[in-house]
Amino acid sequence: MAEPYSIYIHIPFCQQRCFYCDFNTVAGQDSKIDAYLKALKQEIDVLTRHFDEQIPVHTLYIGGGTPSYIAPHHIVDIMELVNQRFAVIPNSEITIEANPGTLDEEKLNMYFASGINRISLGVQSVDDVFLKKLGRIHTYEDVERNIELARKCGFENISADLIFGLPDQSMQHWQDSLACIQSLSLEHLSLYSLTIEEGTPFGTWAEEGKLIASDEDLVADQYSYAISWLAAHGYEQYEISNWRRMDSHIDYASKHNNQYWLNQPYIGFGLGSHSCFEKKRIANTPILGEYFKKISNNGPGAAIEMPASISVDELSIQDEMKETMMLGLRLVKTGVSRERFYSKHQKDMDEVFHREIEELLHHELVQWHNDTLILTERGILLGNQVFMRFV
Ligand code: SF4
Repeated sequence: MAEPYSIYIHIPFCQQRCFYCDFNTVAGQDSKIDAYLKALKQEIDVLTRHFDEQIPVHTLYIGGGTPSYIAPHHIVDIMELVNQRFAVIPNSEITIEANPGTLDEEKLNMYFASGINRISLGVQSVDDVFLKKLGRIHTYEDVERNIELARKCGFENISADLIFGLPDQSMQHWQDSLACIQSLSLEHLSLYSLTIEEGTPFGTWAEEGKLIASDEDLVADQYSYAISWLAAHGYEQYEISNWRRMDSHIDYASKHNNQYWLNQPYIGFGLGSHSCFEKKRIANTPILGEYFKKISNNGPGAAIEMPASISVDELSIQDEMKETMMLGLRLVKTGVSRERFYSKHQKDMDEVFHREIEELLHHELVQWHNDTLILTERGILLGNQVFMRFV
């Protein structure tokens, strides 16, 4: 177990459901928060008892849902348990996801004192009109206030999520939004285009003709603009949807997400979380009632490592190699090198994926940079066409 692991912990509770959200989250079930945290701790306890030695961990991500919605002592408890049960390496990246409408100075101080050193802030839009249309509970003023408070409490690594391709969002509006978010000098930005999902209020309104999705060409133009504008304003794009600030010797790329993209081991705890380690891919139940039942049926001494799991798939070598390509090519600067592929799989990438690589080269979607395969500019814009070749 030499390579360090990443740990993900899912807190599914939200104050209210945003209109576009199809994440694994629950609103209006606050009476179950204490029981959930108890079950979560039991899940961590069961898994860690199955290992003879402590697993080394170099990133921890507390995500949701809205982890910042629940009482902060729960987060402190999680941090204590993780530190007891895993060999958390000094200076690990420890992130909490936060909704700007649920933060305050006391929470931020408690997070920082517990060892959390990175905040991922769900900003989503810098315009209150759009925030309201999205069903968000916060305003842009909350964002500014919370960033100021987080800095005061000691946080030196803050990331913001921002959505583009919003219905009725003009190019000018997106350009102004980027300028606004850039002026906050955050260390990291994640930009996503809006997807209208079935089963969400947005999905229903779109079916009823009450909500018109943004034009696809406009969305592509907004993405292209972000790539060139942020490059000229201090941010390097290192992944399809992620940028790091470049004015320091510190690398602000998300180490936790890198673990996924580099196809390295991670363990997820909590409702609907996923794990991938020891050549197995494991999924937890996404249903809250079932999660409670599974955990109470698999207490201390349970025969299975992952007491809330609903599926455990053994990964073939072919599956693993495809994932190395599909995930690694998302890293637009570092791609997949022949050397990394060989040291991970003891096979030659050109031989295994000769046909796929030739086809992608032919369509100018990927290119060789010395010994490394990376996306071209066109490949970055049409990323899904590339990744689909390795599914
Ligand atoms: S806060 Fe995040 S997880 Fe919760 S409903 Fe909104 S988008 Fe979904």
